[in-house]
Amino acid sequence: MDTVSLTGKELAAALNADTKERAAALTASGPAPRLALVVANDDPASAWYVNSLRKAAERLGIACDRIDLGAEASAAAIREELTARGGDDAVDAIMLQTPLPAGVTLDDVSSAIAAHKDVDGVAPLSLGLLAAGLDGFVPATSEAVVELLKHHGIPLAGKHVAVVGRSNVVGKPLAQLLLAENATVTIAHSRTTDLPAVTSAADVVVAAAGRIGLVTGAHVREGAVVVDVGTNEAADGSIVGDVEAESVRGKAAALSPVPGGVGPVTTALLMRHVVVAAEKARG
Ligand code: NAP
Repeated sequence: MDTVSLTGKELAAALNADTKERAAALTASGPAPRLALVVANDDPASAWYVNSLRKAAERLGIACDRIDLGAEASAAAIREELTARGGDDAVDAIMLQTPLPAGVTLDDVSSAIAAHKDVDGVAPLSLGLLAAGLDGFVPATSEAVVELLKHHGIPLAGKHVAVVGRSNVVGKPLAQLLLAENATVTIAHSRTTDLPAVTSAADVVVAAAGRIGLVTGAHVREGAVVVDVGTNEAADGSIVGDVEAESVRGKAAALSPVPGGVGPVTTALLMRHVVVAAEKARG
């Protein structure tokens, strides 16, 4: 079977063209939309990602401030900064970069992100609105999976989707978005006893576990659609997904590449959320 590559570049380009136009319209009658990126680590991979977000923002006409709190920042200091940016009218959107300092969890600080500026949907209020099916910002990576599937014409209504991973930033919100698309959703995690049996029963498999090569040809049925959310650093420094592409290709009907699949769509959606936040703030 020929396996279609679910690339994200074309969709990201279309989203970015729309975002750029909307950012320009905002800037024509006021300041450019502004994103505050709060960083409290000295992790090189995080620095690379923050830099790529800043470049993406710049290309689209979005102002982006990096606020560096240092890798030793306390939960109280991070909360204080997030609260201050939430009350700052010059800031339209807030994103808290991970990893956080040792001993600080996202749960310790995420409730300090104002929901109307929470463009990556990590605050408990945002997650609750999503679970209730109400309007709010949703985590960009989860939204990217759904948008990528729609872009490639893959139907979700009535389909069985297996999501591997149950984090608050990817797996759980993705399951909610898939339910809203009328899919039948199974969530697998590290305590799932027979992962291949669970994933082989699904029409669509989404791998979001952060484990290199976790999903192999033995995990997917002939003709299934596979989305790889994983972004893991391989021994040679390259970025690889959670799916063993060699054994899945030829068996699956479609597979998203890493890099170039979910990643570019995630960044494009984040930037679109910044513009949406600014549009709402300015009426
Ligand atoms: P996470 O917080 O570490 O969560 C991983 C999830 O996978 C957990 O629910 C864990 O189960 C489950 N898991 C781990 N090992 C497993 C196994 N052997 N079998 C089944 N399930 C297993 O990671 P995350 O933040 O959700 O991120 C997941 C992946 O997505 C990472 O590779 C990350 O880099 C990537 N990511 C990509 C983007 C993008 O834009 N492309 C954005 C964000 C994240 P338990 O709950 O039982 O521990």
